[in-house]
Amino acid sequence: MTMIGDDLQQVNNRIAKACVTAGRDPSEVRLLAVSKTFGPEAVREAHAAGQSAFGENYVQEGLDKIEALADLRSSLEWHCIGPLQSNKTRPVAEHFDWVHSIDRLKIAERLSAQRPAHLPPLDVCLQVNVDGGANKSGVPPEEALALARAVAALPQLRLRGLMAIPEPAAGFEAQRDLCLRAHAVYQSIRDAGIALDTLSLGMSADLEAAISAGSTMVRVGTAIFGGRTYAKPA
Ligand SMILES: *Cc1c(COP(=O)(O)O)cnc(C)c1O
Repeated sequence: MTMIGDDLQQVNNRIAKACVTAGRDPSEVRLLAVSKTFGPEAVREAHAAGQSAFGENYVQEGLDKIEALADLRSSLEWHCIGPLQSNKTRPVAEHFDWVHSIDRLKIAERLSAQRPAHLPPLDVCLQVNVDGGANKSGVPPEEALALARAVAALPQLRLRGLMAIPEPAAGFEAQRDLCLRAHAVYQSIRDAGIALDTLSLGMSADLEAAISAGSTMVRVGTAIFGGRTYAKPA
């Protein structure tokens, strides 16, 4: 087995173990492989080892990879997980399957209007800023329900859930507490009658804490592809 295949296997084992520890069924948690800064061949290798969902942060880099892997398009699912500017929404609406980083209505409206009619609605998550950090992306928790109602009403989008990127915390319990904040917002929106099925939460370093707090999709880069060198502009 290749190295990426080995690493994928280990990550899947971590997820399965975390689910057992949390008393959850492993089928409740999906793995999104974050391939940013790695080339199409790394994605091809991961796909050959059984992985189908991939996350990209930078629109142009993602588009280049989607094009380079056009032969696999029908068996790949591409997720845009990075901050999205309004002048970049069109190619995202045209080429990606999911967007995790909706943090304002204007972006959602553009994606809905620009989603081609021949494609299924774009699956989307709202990014919630659970740390309250002023310069971090995401809607404040107290505004998430209103945004969810507005986004759920857009015709060419399908609101699936929430995404959060909690700060790294010292120790499992502290990390879990931060993750539970995201879960609380998720639960409150569901309690308000909006059907969500996705809590996109947890990365290489905190996936166990995220799964214990109810994550249904972990976004893992480093533990699958190795360390990144940040040569790419944001
Ligand atoms: C880079 C990134 C990840 C993956 O992080 P790792 O620590 O490499 O697993 C997950 N989510 C988002 C939004 C990212 O930007």
